[in-house]
Amino acid sequence: MRRCRHCFYVLEGLAPAGPCPECGRDYDVDHPDGHTLRCPLSRRALWSPILIWTAIFTFLVNSVLLSLAISTTLHIMLTVAFAAGMILWYRFTWRQIRTPLGLVFAAHLILLGMLDPALSLDSLITTGLIESLALLVGARAGTSFRRALRRSHFSHREWLPE
Ligand SMILES: [Zn+2]
Repeated sequence: MRRCRHCFYVLEGLAPAGPCPECGRDYDVDHPDGHTLRCPLSRRALWSPILIWTAIFTFLVNSVLLSLAISTTLHIMLTVAFAAGMILWYRFTWRQIRTPLGLVFAAHLILLGMLDPALSLDSLITTGLIESLALLVGARAGTSFRRALRRSHFSHREWLPE
């Protein structure tokens, strides 16, 4: 459904171009920049599906991790990285987040090394690799979920990237 880019007024049944009856600004239904397919943003509607899905998946991942008898620290790190991957890749694409994510990740490893000076470089690299793996598994799940929602009748599908 085509809407005004400025006030989201529904433009169906109006002339192809002209001033919006609601806000008075110009629209053009034949030009991609002249209108929007998005509905007015409701953060709750946009975020509810992925938060519920992440909670369910994280619970399942937790069950698997518990059976592996790993340390609590590693368990928490893997769970957080997985959940973060799911949520981030729901709203953004790799291209949009690689730089900020890379910086946060590097800062996190540096901080970890400073907080625990006994930690060797080897174990920092191992930590980074294991976390990246958990993040990528979450990213895969988040991306699949986003693509499935974009193909569905989800009201906020146009707010999600391709
Ligand atoms: Zn308008």
